[in-house]
Amino acid sequence: MTDDATAVLASLREEMTESANALLPGLDPGRAYAAGGLHACALKALAALDVVLERHRPVQLYGRVEDYRGNIVCGQDADAGDWDQHFEGDDDGIWYCKSRPTVTVCSSCSDEGDADLRAAWPCPTYAGIARELTGRGAGSGN
Ligand SMILES: [Zn+2]
Ligand SMILES: [Zn+2]
Repeated sequence: MTDDATAVLASLREEMTESANALLPGLDPGRAYAAGGLHACALKALAALDVVLERHRPVQLYGRVEDYRGNIVCGQDADAGDWDQHFEGDDDGIWYCKSRPTVTVCSSCSDEGDADLRAAWPCPTYAGIARELTGRGAGSGN
């Protein structure tokens, strides 16, 4: 999935700076001061959004390598060199397989519990910010 919100933020920053660079040289000192202040305010607001977006990132989850009996269920063969797709989740002895992607969750909202629907990506926080930045309403088909 492309990250719409981050892409829009980057282009907004660029656009604002280009506009300020085009505008400021021709303005008298009073107006240049005001325009510079607006530019600084806008950049601060975007930086605040960055902080929120850094916390709400998509995280891909994977299925387990073994079932609860210890049988290999990912369909891979330890002797076939597939084993490098396996990683331990949390130093807890549970291993996951990258050949078995399951769901994508939010890095922040998923802390509230695996079964919580708010954990699904995109989470409401990211979706709301992306909707405002891109001008695309949820379910509006635009
Ligand atoms: Zn595997
Ligand atoms: Zn979230």
